[in-house]
Amino acid sequence: MSGDTAVKYLYDMSEGDATMRTVLGGKGANLAEMKRLGFPVPDGFTVSTAACVATMESHGEWPDGLWEDVEAAVERLEERTGRTLGGERPLLLAVRSGAVFSMPGMMDTILNLGMSDETVEILGAESHDPRFAWDSYRRFIQMYGDVVEGVQPHVYEDELTALKAKRGVENDTDLTTEDLKELVATFKEVSRRELGRDLPTDPREQLRGAVDAVFKSWDTPRARVYRKANDIPDDLGTAVNVMQMVFGNRGDTSATGVCFTRNPSTGENTIYGEFLINAQGEDVVAGIRTPRPLAELEEVLPEAYAQLVQTLHDLEAHYKDMQDIEFTVEDGTLYMLQTRTGKRTAAAALKIARDLVEEGVLTQEEALQRIEASQLDQLLHPAIDPEHGKTPLTKGLPASPGAAVGELVFDADTAAERGNNGEAVVLVRYETTPDDIHGVIVAQGVLTAHGGMTSHAAVVARGMGKPCVAGAQAIRLNTAEKTLTVGDKVFNEGDVITLDGSTGDVYGEAIDLVPPQVNEDFSAIVGWADELRELGVRANADTGEDAAKARELGAEGIGLCRTEHMFMATDRLPAVREMILAESVEDRAAALEKILPMQQADFEGIFTAMKGLPVTVRLLDPPLHEFLPSLVDQSLLVQRLELTGGDAEELDEARALLGSVKRLHEQNPMLGTRGCRLAMLYPEIPEMQTRAIIRAALAVREREGETVGVEIMIPLVAYSAELEAQRAIVERAVAEELQAAGQEIDVTVGTMIELPRACVVADQIAEHADFFSFGTNDLTQTGIGISRDDAEGGFLSAYVSDEVIPANPFESIDREGVGRLVQIGTERGRSTKPELKVGVCGEHGGDPASIQLFHELGLSYVSCSPFRVPIARFAAARAVLDARGEATPDA
Ligand code: ADP
Ligand code: MG
Ligand code: MG
Repeated sequence: MSGDTAVKYLYDMSEGDATMRTVLGGKGANLAEMKRLGFPVPDGFTVSTAACVATMESHGEWPDGLWEDVEAAVERLEERTGRTLGGERPLLLAVRSGAVFSMPGMMDTILNLGMSDETVEILGAESHDPRFAWDSYRRFIQMYGDVVEGVQPHVYEDELTALKAKRGVENDTDLTTEDLKELVATFKEVSRRELGRDLPTDPREQLRGAVDAVFKSWDTPRARVYRKANDIPDDLGTAVNVMQMVFGNRGDTSATGVCFTRNPSTGENTIYGEFLINAQGEDVVAGIRTPRPLAELEEVLPEAYAQLVQTLHDLEAHYKDMQDIEFTVEDGTLYMLQTRTGKRTAAAALKIARDLVEEGVLTQEEALQRIEASQLDQLLHPAIDPEHGKTPLTKGLPASPGAAVGELVFDADTAAERGNNGEAVVLVRYETTPDDIHGVIVAQGVLTAHGGMTSHAAVVARGMGKPCVAGAQAIRLNTAEKTLTVGDKVFNEGDVITLDGSTGDVYGEAIDLVPPQVNEDFSAIVGWADELRELGVRANADTGEDAAKARELGAEGIGLCRTEHMFMATDRLPAVREMILAESVEDRAAALEKILPMQQADFEGIFTAMKGLPVTVRLLDPPLHEFLPSLVDQSLLVQRLELTGGDAEELDEARALLGSVKRLHEQNPMLGTRGCRLAMLYPEIPEMQTRAIIRAALAVREREGETVGVEIMIPLVAYSAELEAQRAIVERAVAEELQAAGQEIDVTVGTMIELPRACVVADQIAEHADFFSFGTNDLTQTGIGISRDDAEGGFLSAYVSDEVIPANPFESIDREGVGRLVQIGTERGRSTKPELKVGVCGEHGGDPASIQLFHELGLSYVSCSPFRVPIARFAAARAVLDARGEATPDA
């Protein structure tokens, strides 16, 4: 130990164990653990991550005492092994990087350290195998020159290839001792040429250089890129493992290999691996010789194979998870060189977790912690074959996950027609409107040139679990010519494209897909989550079809049924416009009479699908002008009619409509006459909607013998007086309908909480509410003061990439701000009504990180799009485990 510091920089392998990965790195901690358990691991020591960090902090200068620590550790190792570095019985070392989180292949390794002109002779004599000794020497020069001295690796590779060509042989193993001696001489020569000096021959100098090079390999560009892609902090540093060499290149009784305890792509419980006879280090993965399937090792080295199989079994049982292992057999004797939890596909992750529970290795709760929500998500959508290797044409926002392949169509009618014929089409629009819905429904996916994550296309696509890439700004559309252009590439109707809604990538060709994999493993695992979770999980659904889908995926009710989508359907717009344009209460009532049966029919569909479960119906929310043509379009129409001097009646109508459009036009409609504000002005609207809801509920009970728990929700409440007034309207209509029918039914009335003021005065609002539901989309817009559609293509994406904020607050809730508003609203609401039911119906209801917060805040349920329901069920269970503070196992 160094005198002037309390930090311990060096650990003998016998001092460590698997819990010490922060200090020893994953590789070092697991090597120590294997040694502790009595598995055959070559002896050694580990220089801690702290030493690397200290070195980086002082710009490459090693901390005081570190070198002395290393020298002392080498002496101890020499004593234990009975060998000495550079001595009569030479000790040869492997110097290996090992970070806290594994970064496979990103950092450096140096093998056969301690080699020199003297050592090679001794090693050859000692092993009676000079060829092996010279092979080890040439490998050492290659690795040391590359990793420590920065010689380009091809310099050595080229010489090796040239020699093999000269000898007319294909494999490294075909080179003779004399060949290898010649190669060593050449390697020394080219090193001298590259460096202007000889490589160091003093093994202690080599060791110092190697450890230092491993420290530095933490900061290589590829390591940085890997860390960024995997969210690994840059300041952790790497440990350095120094251990005795064992040799897989000692002829035909030696081998090296890598293996998994289960199949990492399918999860199947069979050992999966590869090996090479007479090879060392990275030969297996480097593709110099084609490795052989592990099963063949049984024929070649039966004893080592049997021991390996037993070891794989024991290691998996010990770590209780699938392991990724490196081993070497030296002259028939097995050595373990690494074990770590193996990376696997999503499908394999589920199968392995389920099998381990069935085998009694894991509890259900432990198994849930081995799975990530993103893996479930992958399995819920047909996915792009990960091996495709194609370059995308352009990129938009990843608006709705999943992959779509189909022929380009430019309008919804064509999409509908061809889609209904069973053809695979991808609908491309500048942006979609409610009128495009028929095309969207049958298309494989939707691509838009404009619009953000809440654009119509995005919302609708997500709701339907349909892939969507929105706002792909680089595409130019010519709908008249039916062409899509990106740069100089032009696509016509009928050309095939592929969308990856999970990344936003667009491909100008067909890419193979792999189908969704909601299998028994998936259902079993989400079933375990149900046993554990405390949050309820509901779905957001506006149609009977969506409701049925939601129920199938395990929704326990509807948390948000938006009624405006019903108003927007093409066959209803005329009646809705009539209502908006009505000059008198009577006219309006007459128009609403027409809409009522349509609404009732919609509700009956949803209530039938959800009978026995609660359904929250939100009364009309958006501003009325959304149901009218745009100001620009209508002005142009009037102008055209004026110019052509056409039909007078048509012109009058167009002018009247333009007048209404102007009258209803708002500068900032998001903060305008919408939600309950509209209902305050036109109380006939909530009244009609309530009647339709009650009639539907009664009709479904009559027909099905059972109906839903009716929950009527008032949107955009800021003042308790608003809710008080709206509640009175709703209650009166309910009472009248029930009296007219001579029936009873339970109805609750609650409110959406989506304004900061509502959170602050939630205690007052709760006096009139049976339940709260946080509309976290609008609460994020109003709470942070961001217009989502304007921001997502603009400053917000810059904020995320520049790390001004950790994540897009519309995807994952802003814990400190908006999350706090949710907390305040919940606490104050429950201060008035302790039993108040509180839910979330924004898109955050399907986001695992947000769900974790909602669990912590003690909410009653989350509600999300039907296709997110299984993920929410799973995430709610993980939130319970996380809140208990059980750490997730090593990655
Ligand atoms: P990576 O993190 O890139 O896998 P490793 O440190 O695991 O790097 O080393 C790469 C390879 O070097 C191992 O797969 C193994 O074959 C070989 N190796 C490592 N340590 C030893 C050792 N003590 N004796 C022999 N070979 C070793
Ligand atoms: Mg490597
Ligand atoms: Mg390795």
